[in-house]
Amino acid sequence: MKIESVQVELLKVPANMLYEAAGHSVSHNWHILSRIVVEDGTEGIGWLVNTRPAFIYPLYEATKELGDLLVGENVYKNEYLYGLMNSYGNWVGPGGFLNMAMSSLDIAVWDVKAKLAGQSVSNLLGGHSNSVNSYASDRLWYSMPIEELLESAKQHVAAGHSRIKLRIGKVDDISEQINRINRLKEEYEHLDIMLDATESWSLSEARSFGEALSQTGIIWLEDPIYHLDLKGLRVLKDNLSIPIAGGEHLYTFESFRDTVDSSSLDVVIIDLSRVGGVTPWIKVAHMCESANILLAGHVLPEFHVHLLSAVTNGYLVEDMPRSENIIRTKLEINQGNMIVPQGNGFGIELDEDACTRYRVS
Ligand SMILES: [Mg+2]
Repeated sequence: MKIESVQVELLKVPANMLYEAAGHSVSHNWHILSRIVVEDGTEGIGWLVNTRPAFIYPLYEATKELGDLLVGENVYKNEYLYGLMNSYGNWVGPGGFLNMAMSSLDIAVWDVKAKLAGQSVSNLLGGHSNSVNSYASDRLWYSMPIEELLESAKQHVAAGHSRIKLRIGKVDDISEQINRINRLKEEYEHLDIMLDATESWSLSEARSFGEALSQTGIIWLEDPIYHLDLKGLRVLKDNLSIPIAGGEHLYTFESFRDTVDSSSLDVVIIDLSRVGGVTPWIKVAHMCESANILLAGHVLPEFHVHLLSAVTNGYLVEDMPRSENIIRTKLEINQGNMIVPQGNGFGIELDEDACTRYRVS
């Protein structure tokens, strides 16, 4: 089935609330939205979302240029299409910018393929389950006072969540964070809590903070140290009782392979944009399965719910609704599970009026 056209749009979508993340003030969710239309009129969509404007225009231009390569090609041949884009741009790769530029196009290819098959992407990739365990990740920033954190937790529980993830940055003393976790646990006894340390600690800090945190019952400690320090991560995994999660910063097969081979993580988190789209995502997922490693998705729940439900080692989808202002589809959460949306492809309906309103290029 021939690809008739590829259109790439840049959207500057207002965030529902202003917040601080990873030391940056976030006011907008930038989207690079790719649309692929094939000869029978079927349209597939995919996007990348970023909270920072840095390099977003060059990334948009690179995505457009890669998209032009796909016109006239057979949409079923995702490996061929991926290779076409990868070899065209490999002088700025592997990984990094190139993967990000390819990702929304590859996602759109899979959306078309599944729509043509009359199936969800989840089913097309294996259809292991109709839902995935999920956790709430929005409005739980370390810049928030405890009262606001409790209010956020209350809203997440009311929305059907049973897990939340807190963030933490550089700290001198872990006791304040432990107090916050304990306070949340007092209020919501059955709430599972994860902690993302956003690579803020040294190895020695991570060891001592990790030991102190083990009393709180948190279900994972994410990115305690720099993600490429595999020896350090292995030390933490072997010495702490809390499962260690990480991987969202990895781009290439080799990085994932080295991480898996080093047995340094209990849970591998894959970022669909950084890994370069669905085609490589599924390979990394199977690589992790071969080592009995559980998988989580980094942001993009609209796509990750399909991918994680397709495979046997899909563990947790991150409910981070950065795109809810441009889609009509509402992701359903039920007793801590995210349900795979009905419909073919990714089952996502865009709010075209909103896309037009927020389009800047
Ligand atoms: Mg993280």
